[in-house]
Amino acid sequence: MLIGGGPLFTFGKEDKFLENGGVRVEGGLIQEVDSWEQLLKRYPQAEAHDFKGGIIIPGMTCAHHHFYSSLARGIDLKGRSPKKFGEILQDLWWRLDKCLTLEDVYYSAKVALIDGIKCGTTAILDHHASPKAIRGSLETIAQAVREAGIRACLCYEVSDRDGPDPAREGLEENAEFVARAKEENSDYLKATFGLHASFTLSDATLSLARELAQKLDTGFHIHVAEGEEDVENSLNLYGKRVVERLYDSGILGGKTLAVHCIHVDDREIGILRETGTMVVHNPSSNMNNAVGYAPIGEMLKKGIIVGLGTDGMSSDMFFELKTAFLLQKHQSQDPRRGWEEVRRIYFENNPKIFKKFFPRPVGELSQGSYADLVVLDYNPPTPLGKENFLGHLLFAIGSGSVRDVVVGGRFLMKDRILLHMDEEKIMAQARKLARKLWERF
Ligand SMILES: [Zn+2]
Repeated sequence: MLIGGGPLFTFGKEDKFLENGGVRVEGGLIQEVDSWEQLLKRYPQAEAHDFKGGIIIPGMTCAHHHFYSSLARGIDLKGRSPKKFGEILQDLWWRLDKCLTLEDVYYSAKVALIDGIKCGTTAILDHHASPKAIRGSLETIAQAVREAGIRACLCYEVSDRDGPDPAREGLEENAEFVARAKEENSDYLKATFGLHASFTLSDATLSLARELAQKLDTGFHIHVAEGEEDVENSLNLYGKRVVERLYDSGILGGKTLAVHCIHVDDREIGILRETGTMVVHNPSSNMNNAVGYAPIGEMLKKGIIVGLGTDGMSSDMFFELKTAFLLQKHQSQDPRRGWEEVRRIYFENNPKIFKKFFPRPVGELSQGSYADLVVLDYNPPTPLGKENFLGHLLFAIGSGSVRDVVVGGRFLMKDRILLHMDEEKIMAQARKLARKLWERF
């Protein structure tokens, strides 16, 4: 199958720009990237989809998401007004996640996945919590992911915050699902071991998690030093900072995602680098929770793989890119900042992070990479090329520009119409469930 017929940006190592490019797809993978004319000439019999001038880029990737947050949109906190991050967790998220049933979990995922496809996000690392419906929750989300047709890596966030039983169930849920995903060996669905955060995990639980993960040869997906509460807890109870504690517990390493890393000092940045631990930056969530600013520049300088995620705020990576860009400038009070950081965290590092979970390249269009691409309906009013694509992306192109989405060579959206999901029906059911959820909240 041939798809193409528009300006094509490959991203990735080759980082090529073709004025009128296309790809040949076979078995869900890209076999060739070339000019559209050449491809049509070489394969005259092939089924060809012409994008008629739409701009072709690799599918967008999100390195940290919470599908389960979907039904919180517009929720009434019933008089509560959290002042600090810890209170946001107590008053909103830790009350909401306890109200989730498996059906809520399924529809939350469906909503986030629909949003993802409409925003051109084709690969997501999710972090899930539903303390009263733990067992079977990852398989429930997996079902929604399979139906959506995108790629995702799932985990359950183990925590001691609700007592020993939910902690044990969380450990079992991860271990079982990681083993099942390995057995299934799908190019669409992967798993890793989820942990909530240092301040809700005892040494005993961390030790059990490490044992299980070691047996399964997997790393961890964990929030690290997001709020000051995490640091205070670690210093008070264990006499060390969060990254030091996680290092001593054997949680860090080349397969581990340390999400946020806002309140980390130089020594901790050194530990993250030495252990090869990956970091995920979530600027819009950090600003929304008013938790501070992650030292992205310092971490990148030290060679840490820092990627970009949304933390459940949305599935829109165009918005997150813009937010990361503006936050870099705003925080540093230096208008030169942002360009290089955004280029590295999203275009260079997100693909490196996904490569740890998926066997083929994600986030680039090259021979052997997944045939995951997005077509943008964007008519540039100024010259557009490889050298200034980022300028167009950060100042104009947004998720509203996404017209068609292809994953593994399969169309998921054409002319902004979802082809395999009944959006009307899913949203209507989600609204019904959200109403009931809010009553229980
Ligand atoms: Zn998160």
